[in-house]
Amino acid sequence: MKNKVILISIDGMRPDGLMQCGNPIVKELMQQGSYTLTAQTVFPSVTLPCHMSMFHSVTPERHGTTTNAYAPQVRPIDGLCEQISRAGGVCGSFFGWEPIRDLSLPGYLQVAQYMNAYSFDHADGILTDQALTYIDQVQPDFVFLYLVDTDEKGGHDVGWMSDAYLDCISYAIDQVKRVVDACGDRYTILVTADHGGHDRMHGTDLPEDMTIPMIFLGKEFEPGKELSDVSILDLAPTIATIMGVPIPREWEGNVLVKGE
Ligand SMILES: [Zn+2]
Repeated sequence: MKNKVILISIDGMRPDGLMQCGNPIVKELMQQGSYTLTAQTVFPSVTLPCHMSMFHSVTPERHGTTTNAYAPQVRPIDGLCEQISRAGGVCGSFFGWEPIRDLSLPGYLQVAQYMNAYSFDHADGILTDQALTYIDQVQPDFVFLYLVDTDEKGGHDVGWMSDAYLDCISYAIDQVKRVVDACGDRYTILVTADHGGHDRMHGTDLPEDMTIPMIFLGKEFEPGKELSDVSILDLAPTIATIMGVPIPREWEGNVLVKGE
């Protein structure tokens, strides 16, 4: 692999939630890397469809998972982990919500670590511990860390932009900082959300649901630069390019970095 990548998805994180969560690390990360506060997710703005689009770089219409129930693809498209694995890379995934297991076909992840986030306080922190231990021991090429507390315990339980919601984002950002401190010298780190939310729900085409923030930390990205016109479909081809992995012809997103 040319470079190693960690992708962190903070479920349900809105850009204004990120900016108003009160954690000073947010500004620090935005100065350190490139970022956008206006990236667009896909419709429906629902967790599994959005993550399938994140990993397969096509809209839900094309990959066929349009609800949180996984639908096997009729005309299968290779996803990010399949591509990395076939190129000889080692992938691991850590997630607090079980359906995330379906983002990669069986056999392409060395580790798929699920824990039920509702069984633990601060599940995001425990998952981050597990991911960091794995990274330390194995030095994998790609790690996906999926943090669910912001969506479940903040947004759905109390409400988007509530104090509880903002606290969940702040705590998730603390976890991002731990990953950056431990791995930032060896990994390019991308932080994103899958969708936003409003009231106590999401899934609509409202801007509050469709607009997501992203922060890109690594030598490929200019410090402090704000990117525009970014789509969730751009993540897989951008990561593939950073890692030197081939991009399937079906993928529709743009590459946000210069290839070599
Ligand atoms: Zn949700």
